[in-house]
Amino acid sequence: MARLIIDADTCTGCEACLPSCPFGSLSMKDGLALVDESCNFCRACVEACPVGAITVEMEEKAVPIDTGSYQNVWAFIEHEQEKVSSVSLELLGEGRKLAEALGCQVCGMLFGDPGDVDHFAKEAIAHGAEKVYVMESPLLKQYRTDPYARAAVDLIRKFKPEIVLFGATTQGRDFAGTVATTLGAGLTADCTGLDIDPETKYLKQTRPAFGGNIMATILDYPHYRPQMSTVRSKVFALPPRDDSRKGEIIRETLQMTEDEVRTKILEFIKGRETVNLADAEIIISGGRAIGSAENFRIIRELAEVLGAAVGASRAAVDSGWISYEHQVGQTGRTVRPKIYIACGISGSVQHQAGMKTSDIIVAINKDPDAPIFKIATYGVVADLFTVVPKLTQEFRKRLGR
Ligand SMILES: Cc1cc2nc3c(=O)[nH]c(=O)nc-3n(C[C@H](O)[C@H](O)[C@H](O)COP(=O)(O)OP(=O)(O)OC[C@H]3O[C@@H](n4cnc5c(N)ncnc54)[C@H](O)[C@@H]3O)c2cc1C
Repeated sequence: MARLIIDADTCTGCEACLPSCPFGSLSMKDGLALVDESCNFCRACVEACPVGAITVEMEEKAVPIDTGSYQNVWAFIEHEQEKVSSVSLELLGEGRKLAEALGCQVCGMLFGDPGDVDHFAKEAIAHGAEKVYVMESPLLKQYRTDPYARAAVDLIRKFKPEIVLFGATTQGRDFAGTVATTLGAGLTADCTGLDIDPETKYLKQTRPAFGGNIMATILDYPHYRPQMSTVRSKVFALPPRDDSRKGEIIRETLQMTEDEVRTKILEFIKGRETVNLADAEIIISGGRAIGSAENFRIIRELAEVLGAAVGASRAAVDSGWISYEHQVGQTGRTVRPKIYIACGISGSVQHQAGMKTSDIIVAINKDPDAPIFKIATYGVVADLFTVVPKLTQEFRKRLGR
């Protein structure tokens, strides 16, 4: 937060500040400069004022806190349509590694309608949560920013976690920012790597920056807590499920009324079918070699027979043959299917960044030196236009589809 101050005793009314303001926020009144609420605190007028009458004062919103009283790693347990999202469980797995490095516990943070959250809490415990902090209220039955942000802020203020991880999902991206600004804490969005600095014990948050050209490792400001990140789906492995695990469920009730919520849900209208690359067990991807939107038909046909999702390289997306939702890679989706079949994709580092952790990689490429073969489990050196239709035909026969 900032404030622009014009010292009335020093201002000479020379008007030198007026043309300097790119937002037109300054005017003259009674021979003195006056600023309105459109001011962006860019300081251009501070530089322009010949007598030093204008200053910008920063207000510290967040005051440094006793960071030592914060402990444990929390993962937000997101659920939709009666299912815990897989990224939340992946966060518990990664959270456990961070907790081990810090010598603390990994916990879940879960919201929902009273009486309808226990099965989600049990699933979190089966995937490694030692405690699950549950905030219950009818206001939390369906996602809305205000009650979700308030629930998180109240739990965080009361139980003081050192690290809070959210899935980089529509929900996580939406309300994690509100939580961070309310608490005055940092938030690193869309992380692809997390680690604990062995000396300082700070959370190291890695994410692509400058359009994916560099990987930046970000530390939150050391005097504020919690350290918070959103993390993309499939970046981390799903931890094994163990239903015999025991964990504690801590229940709180949201102190908020419907009047305080600024949005109302009138109706849910199902959007168009989106591409669910993140949860697909098999992905068939096409690259530049596909050559046209029409030719993607052969990829779709194989995908249909195998019950697979269709992926693409950026070259295919940039050529306008298929939409961005299908793009796999550093600036597209990160995927971790059981089988990834790359057709006519060279295997650039940026493409590999999104798919190299797939269990089995099959590469079809007519260049035996293509880099994709270095990470492929099985390689087929051939023309994809011959091989892919043959695979479709053979799978159709064997699977009876
Ligand atoms: C900042 C940045 C971010 C990026 N992010 C991404 C990203 O998220 N995802 C991504 O994919 N790329 C990304 N890229 C682009 C990346 O560098 C490559 O340009 C891109 O992956 C190449 O796509 P491709 O493999 O389809 O095409 P190419 O590299 O042109 O490869 C085509 C391959 O097809 C083979 N081939 C040709 N004809 C046939 C045929 N008939 N049968 C079989 N094989 C054939 C060729 O031998 C070749 O190996 C990014 C680049 C930058 C700089």
